[in-house]
Amino acid sequence: MATSVRLILGDQLNLNHSWFKKVSPDVVYVLMEVRSETDYVLHHAQKVIAIFAGMRRLAEQLKKAGHKVRYFHISDKDNTHHFATNLKKVIKEIGAKRFEYQEPDEYRLDQELKLFVKDLGLESACVSSEHFIDTRDGVAKHFQKDAKRWVMESYYRRMRQRTDMLMDDGEPLGGQWNFDHDNRKPWKGKPDLVKSWDLSHDHSAIWAEIQKSGAKTFGNPSADNFPWPQDRAEALAQLKAFIQKGLTNFGDYEDAMHTDSDRLFHSRLSFALNVKLLSPLEVAQAAVNAHQKDSSVYPLAATEGFVRQIIGWREYIRGVYWAKMPDYEKSNGLGHTLSLPSWFWTGKVKMNCMKHSVGQSLETAYAHHIQRLMVIGSFCLTAGIDPAEVEKWYLGVYIDAFQWVELPNVIGMSQHADGGFLATKPYCCAASYVSKMSNYCTGCIYDPKDRHGPKACPLNALYWDFWLRHQKRFLNNPRIGMAVRQAANMSPAEQSAVRKKADALRADIDNL
Ligand SMILES: Cc1cc2nc3c(=O)[nH]c(=O)nc-3n(C[C@H](O)[C@H](O)[C@H](O)COP(=O)(O)OP(=O)(O)OC[C@H]3O[C@@H](n4cnc5c(N)ncnc54)[C@H](O)[C@@H]3O)c2cc1C
Ligand code: SF4
Repeated sequence: MATSVRLILGDQLNLNHSWFKKVSPDVVYVLMEVRSETDYVLHHAQKVIAIFAGMRRLAEQLKKAGHKVRYFHISDKDNTHHFATNLKKVIKEIGAKRFEYQEPDEYRLDQELKLFVKDLGLESACVSSEHFIDTRDGVAKHFQKDAKRWVMESYYRRMRQRTDMLMDDGEPLGGQWNFDHDNRKPWKGKPDLVKSWDLSHDHSAIWAEIQKSGAKTFGNPSADNFPWPQDRAEALAQLKAFIQKGLTNFGDYEDAMHTDSDRLFHSRLSFALNVKLLSPLEVAQAAVNAHQKDSSVYPLAATEGFVRQIIGWREYIRGVYWAKMPDYEKSNGLGHTLSLPSWFWTGKVKMNCMKHSVGQSLETAYAHHIQRLMVIGSFCLTAGIDPAEVEKWYLGVYIDAFQWVELPNVIGMSQHADGGFLATKPYCCAASYVSKMSNYCTGCIYDPKDRHGPKACPLNALYWDFWLRHQKRFLNNPRIGMAVRQAANMSPAEQSAVRKKADALRADIDNL
């Protein structure tokens, strides 16, 4: 075998990849901590630490198994901080005749590596990352090319059939594909039940190295009490703990938010999944197995809800990304231009729901789906923030934020900037939803019931003003016609008061 260099990216920490089945003295695996990756967007400190810690652990494990590894630390003097130059250096050092890499998940890196290979003049190959259930173009193939909308539910049903998960002789188990409607209960607060089952590490040394390198980050590094898994054994332990302690209640409280817990019964497995410490099939199968073993403890509604996120939403979102990039990134279908408020970087805001959701994101690099969609995202959408700014914040702040999964969720699902291609309706809410699904409104200085008085909840005026501003576009949408009609049927005086209040809120957006 000709001497080969194989590149492993920071989100390709899959020790089960077929590359590693055979130890060969002719193959050198290259991993690198580079400033081109830490700097393409401002990242949360925990995200950079978690990826570097995971890469370092994988390198150790590979070396222990007998593989040859060349590792560039962020602090190494000979690190040029770019993939191309570091790779060329190693290729020259060892006289490599061949270069291989795994399919990158981000368009940016896909382009960069294609270009690198083109210029390299060596034999090369791009192999599968062996992580996803479907191919990059699987979703596009499922839908008709010219369909105006790609509805996730139809793709999800195909994935259920394909994986044979929760199926009964070709039919959905329980006679129903989707139990989403059962998953809408608010959490009334029993703190003992939501005790954290997180891990803890001391990553102070890596954090010191990152700081010394000059790479800029934001948020709480939590370096001496670090919760994210750094190898497969830890990720498997996290999966097991979720099945034991979270899955039972996952369905019922999937949309709930509460100050007792930043995750309630959500799995927090997105980091382990996205860096490929776990495979989507094994995660979904673990939930199915638990249900099969004891459906009285792990009900079908909870199991189906969880499985849908993994084999449905996650794969679908990836397919949309690859079908729509690079233009998708620039989508701004509603023409929103306002800048992100400064408190997105500090958490210093009086609105209790935003203080908790943004504050928690800065503290922990995590928020669960409803906080991302119906609190932070809904605020940005109804306030009219530029989706490109929103997208950059989400890409930086979350531990699991890799563009293939973050971008369609932000641009399509949350900001409705793609003209409704991904989500059939804009996801937004007024205070009534937040107050029903959380305890945030208790103790907030704003009045959730008031629309435009001096103490009125800002979400109310912004919500109704959103429907007034975009009335024409949404009036005939059967999924949201009611909200638009309600706004249109307000008296002219009420409409004017709502608009005036929303304008005043926008003008003072840094001080809400
Ligand atoms: C505006 C916005 C931005 C988001 N950005 C990201 C992101 O950068 N990275 C990311 O992984 N997810 C993102 N999501 C999807 C989802 O919110 C997170 O995957 C989830 O909150 C992660 O927490 P968890 O592991 O506790 O999830 P759980 O609620 O326990 O769900 C289990 C798993 O299902 C998958 N999943 C659930 N919903 C989605 C979805 N909509 N799209 C793709 N996968 C999903 C995730 O892998 C998740 O770990 C975003 C959603 C929104 C609305
Ligand atoms: S009153 Fe409004 S701002 Fe305050 S927590 Fe409730 S929804 Fe949020």
